[in-house]
Amino acid sequence: MGYQVVSVNMPADYTDEMLHSRLAKTLHIRQFTWQIEGKSLDARNKRNIHWVLRVAVFSDELRGKLPEIPEKLEIPHVKTSMHILVTGSGPAGFFCAFVLQKAGYQTTLIDRGSDVLKRNQSLNRFEREGIFDPLNNYAFGEGGAGTFSDGKLTSRSKHISRERRFILDTYIAAGAPKEIAYLAHPHLGTDNLIRMVKNLRKEYEELGGKMLFETCLDNLIVKNGNVLSAELNAESFDADSFFIAPGHSAYDTYRMLIRKGVLFRTKNFAIGSRMEHPQEVINRAQWGMSGIPGLKAAEYRVTSQGDGKHPVYSFCMCPGGIVVPATAYAHTNIVNGMSYYKRDGYYANAACVAGIHPGELAGREVTAMEALDQLEALESHFYTLPGCYRAPACSIPDFMDGTLRNTNIPGSYPLGTLAAPLWELLPPVIINAMKSGLRDFKSKIKGFESGQLIGLESKTSSPIQAIRNEGGLCEGFSNLYLIGEGSGYTGGIISSAADGVKAAMRFLTTR
Ligand SMILES: Cc1cc2nc3c(=O)[nH]c(=O)nc-3n(C[C@H](O)[C@H](O)[C@H](O)COP(=O)(O)OP(=O)(O)OC[C@H]3O[C@@H](n4cnc5c(N)ncnc54)[C@H](O)[C@@H]3O)c2cc1C
Repeated sequence: MGYQVVSVNMPADYTDEMLHSRLAKTLHIRQFTWQIEGKSLDARNKRNIHWVLRVAVFSDELRGKLPEIPEKLEIPHVKTSMHILVTGSGPAGFFCAFVLQKAGYQTTLIDRGSDVLKRNQSLNRFEREGIFDPLNNYAFGEGGAGTFSDGKLTSRSKHISRERRFILDTYIAAGAPKEIAYLAHPHLGTDNLIRMVKNLRKEYEELGGKMLFETCLDNLIVKNGNVLSAELNAESFDADSFFIAPGHSAYDTYRMLIRKGVLFRTKNFAIGSRMEHPQEVINRAQWGMSGIPGLKAAEYRVTSQGDGKHPVYSFCMCPGGIVVPATAYAHTNIVNGMSYYKRDGYYANAACVAGIHPGELAGREVTAMEALDQLEALESHFYTLPGCYRAPACSIPDFMDGTLRNTNIPGSYPLGTLAAPLWELLPPVIINAMKSGLRDFKSKIKGFESGQLIGLESKTSSPIQAIRNEGGLCEGFSNLYLIGEGSGYTGGIISSAADGVKAAMRFLTTR
């Protein structure tokens, strides 16, 4: 069997038959199989928007040697009676527990929220009736923060190729579309994610893993840097090692960890608003037309130097998506974005955020605890004005001028918007940077000023970071690991899941 990799350009609405015949013609072969290895959209020339494919072709008519199989994640098998508690069923906690359980450890995975179906019901009620559920929301509940999301699987993290492959293979086995293995910008959509999260839990439980819902880690009992036990819903739970993956919304858990002596430093993070446009505006700006057969919805990613000190950039763009009320606590108000696999909603949204250090917001150096207090106060401030979970919002031109002229702010946000001077609600340093950024974005995306800014976006990454030693342990502890987005080292589904895999593998290979 011979092998060759070819690069071919295909029209946006190509079919498998078209690709097959193109490969036959390009390579002058008749009997062959093929597999796409890479696929990205080239939209630089609006009159010739096409896919660029990298395809591996296998045939007796080819001479090239078969490729070496890329290195796989080899999970060692251990014989042990050790019990491990993993807190948080988001990507980091799930993959950590999954790998440890596969290796032979007895793991218990807990989440303060409910299973994904009950969580879905709570979210529906919140968006229909405005009744907030502190256990089940866009941040908390089975599958973690990204379950009700666009499910973008891109990551800028380096040195995670083995982990990434393992995660994508696991997702595909749990029902994710196979294309996530080769697309340059893969995404899952909330509909796929809900199904996959259920299937992943089933697989974990079939391995012998124990999953406990509506079980909150309230406290740790620590002696001389050794965690003796955890308090779950005020009941004691013993384990040998403790992995905590609480995400970066769990302020109560962060505060408990700080009180227990876990060391954190403050770090740069970003805040701003969600911007929203009719998807057609984005399609026209990116493609020169309202739609292209074979393509879902156009994406964008824009960056700016901001005011020179605070970079401004779009983040977590959701084509054809919905702006959602993403608060984890009652009486605070923040937004985020999600979409379904088809990405066929009327609007497009993305965060528009400015990077900043917590100390700069306060005008002095702050501790980790103060950085959390400061962020929580801002999130409460956005609740106080409407007195509910409606999102304060304004048009982009009104934001730029600092004058509220438009009082009707349409959009996808399910709980409704309230016309409000966002430039008075966000910190002045953020406003200045965002204004410069938005001016730049206007020159990059035609029709950009037709959009609006909605709510507070404060969860692009954590303002604090745990101090971990080389073995991944929390500094000063012998059996406590803080992983995923809550540790402050990752941001996004893939990098957080990879941190969970890496933490488990490091644990397995250093014992
Ligand atoms: C609406 C939305 C859309 C997003 N879209 C994308 C996207 O398209 N692509 C992308 O890469 N990223 C996206 N993200 C970010 C992504 O979801 C996170 O980066 C990722 O989920 C972090 O994984 P994690 O496992 O570290 O933490 P999380 O996913 O936050 O999981 C933490 C889990 O811990 C549980 N928990 C917290 N405290 C406790 C406790 N004390 N006891 C028990 N359980 C606890 C929570 O209930 C939660 O389930 C999105 C986030 C949101 C909110």
